[in-house]
Amino acid sequence: APVILWFRRDLRLADNPALNKAHATGRPVVPVYIHDEGTAVRPAGAASLWWLDKSLRALAGSLAERGATLILRRGDSETELRRLIDQTGADTVFLNRLFEPEAWTRDADIAHGLKTDGVECRGSNGSLLALPGSLLNGSGGPYKVFTPFMKALRAQAEPPAHTTGPRQLGAAPGLESDDLDAWGLHPTRPDWSKGFDWTPGEDGATAALHRFVSGGLADYSNGRDRPAEPATSRLSPHLHFGEISPWRAWIAARDAADGGKVTSGEADKFIAELIWRDFSAHLLHHFPTLPDKAFRPEYDAMPWRDDEPGFLAWTRGMTGYPIVDAGMRELWATGVMHNRVRMIVASFLIKDLLIDWRRGEAWFWDTLVDADLASNSQNWQWVAGSGADASPYFRIFNPVTQGQKFDAEARYVKRWIPELAPVPARWIHAPWNAPPEILRDCGIRLGTTYPRPIVDHARARERALAALKTVTAER
Ligand code: FAD
Repeated sequence: APVILWFRRDLRLADNPALNKAHATGRPVVPVYIHDEGTAVRPAGAASLWWLDKSLRALAGSLAERGATLILRRGDSETELRRLIDQTGADTVFLNRLFEPEAWTRDADIAHGLKTDGVECRGSNGSLLALPGSLLNGSGGPYKVFTPFMKALRAQAEPPAHTTGPRQLGAAPGLESDDLDAWGLHPTRPDWSKGFDWTPGEDGATAALHRFVSGGLADYSNGRDRPAEPATSRLSPHLHFGEISPWRAWIAARDAADGGKVTSGEADKFIAELIWRDFSAHLLHHFPTLPDKAFRPEYDAMPWRDDEPGFLAWTRGMTGYPIVDAGMRELWATGVMHNRVRMIVASFLIKDLLIDWRRGEAWFWDTLVDADLASNSQNWQWVAGSGADASPYFRIFNPVTQGQKFDAEARYVKRWIPELAPVPARWIHAPWNAPPEILRDCGIRLGTTYPRPIVDHARARERALAALKTVTAER
């Protein structure tokens, strides 16, 4: 009898433990992807669905090159698995685990249900550097602070041997499969994805890693804060969908340092970011309410404002603060936003507008191609000051000085806000301070061609600090 390989967020053939174990049985492998919207952890956002569409096509292509057909099914995971088991006579399902608490529980239920019918589910870890639960602090609990977590992970986690995946997989015998086009994952009315410049899939992931290791990595710790520079890896969506193992990225960086191409400091900084991804996943695994509730509960009493026009202006990149607007427009146009700017726009929403971080998290969830429940909620709570290892709330980003510091030549702002492009860099991050004749010469009419600031930062800052006082004794 064949065995089933249930693909989820592990859309690759290299370094795929579930695939390797399925292949090692020596039996035919039936690869399946089930598009399950009903019992998903949280229904995927629109940008994620765009990615999924392309990534599945890439995976189906790689499987076809190895003689296998990716079976596509839509519906409840357990029902579809059972149908496939009936159709194939399979007695084992191989899968790479998902660690979000709801997915974890659902997988356990499915495994339990199938077991009673004599079908075994075999789970592996293909997505994280360390298995959640394997790293515990001195008192046996989960780490809540990053640095000790990182130290423990570096001391304990072992890179698995690199594998390229089987050369040949047997064909599945005439099984029904959906037509991916019929799933309608690609946006049509309107197609807002025209500016997406990505190559989803395993080949695109490997190419991104090579590009980064021979380019941005050499100056990563400095370059990663400059949004105009192509200095970061752009691996986040590939990692989210499991198109590359995080260990591949780790090892590539370490090899570059060992080979003298980059300093070990640069490689370590990059590896630390990969560990932040694990830290987020481990936190969510241990604290299931992370996307919904403040980790520090007192922050849920924050007097959030109900400000629909403010929220809309934020989503549309029309707040009047150029660095914020550039980031929000980059997000809409490309499906990602630079990390430094994510922090700035999140701080602006939470503190300048005093809007609940969950609204921002939900917007990111829908618009990011790398939307990840753990990383997104962990990072939003980091900015909100309510997270486990968070930036203190009272550290409020000034959107003007952040822009001046990290986008000094204004190349990033000019790229995303073309109407401000003629404004000299010196004035561009606070155009309302520019001499009127300069604005006139540049064709800018504030309030008409580009918005005036929707809030006064200095006053908004005072309001945010006053709000903080109502919920905590921190200041
Ligand atoms: P690089 O700098 O090349 O980093 C390499 C990898 O490390 C990334 O691909 C990512 O997997 C991981 N990483 C880097 N920074 C972080 C971080 N702060 N937290 C967790 N992992 C990190 N990242 C997501 O993958 N999904 C999200 O939904 C997400 N939401 C965010 C929301 C906010 C408000 C903020 C401030 C950050 C968020 N991030 C999220 C983290 C970070 O911005 C992105 O991972 C990064 O910008 C991706 O670009 P890169 O792959 O070029 O990163």
